[in-house]
Amino acid sequence: MEIDLADTIFTKILNKEIPADIVHEDEHCIAFRDINPQAPVHLLIIPRRAIASIGSMQDADVSLVGHLFRVARDLARSNGIAEGGYRLIINNGENAGQTVAHLHVHLMGGRSFNWPPG
Ligand code: 5GP
Repeated sequence: MEIDLADTIFTKILNKEIPADIVHEDEHCIAFRDINPQAPVHLLIIPRRAIASIGSMQDADVSLVGHLFRVARDLARSNGIAEGGYRLIINNGENAGQTVAHLHVHLMGGRSFNWPPG
């Protein structure tokens, strides 16, 4: 699927122009349930600022990206998947299957995952 480099669907979710099941909001990021969940818990954690991908993050974004992982850790705990284990995924670019050009961390848990991923 082509990457949409313009205003993404996630900007519309951030701006509350389209609905999403938002499970966390703070000054720097929001998290919401993936519309097409691939696990019993499948959340997306995205920065408010539209960074397209890890590949385009700046050095100044280090603490923001770290914040996304801290929120992922806390959401794993509050969603009951911390003990059993969970997977964090960031798809970067076409070969990885990135379809939305707004950085997002997938937090998935509640089942076992294969390695290596497909
Ligand atoms: P990617 O493939 O870019 O790593 O992940 C994009 C994710 O966004 C997919 O898992 C897809 O299901 C999810 N997604 C796409 N559009 C929407 C939407 O409108 N709402 C929600 N909640 N998730 C979406």
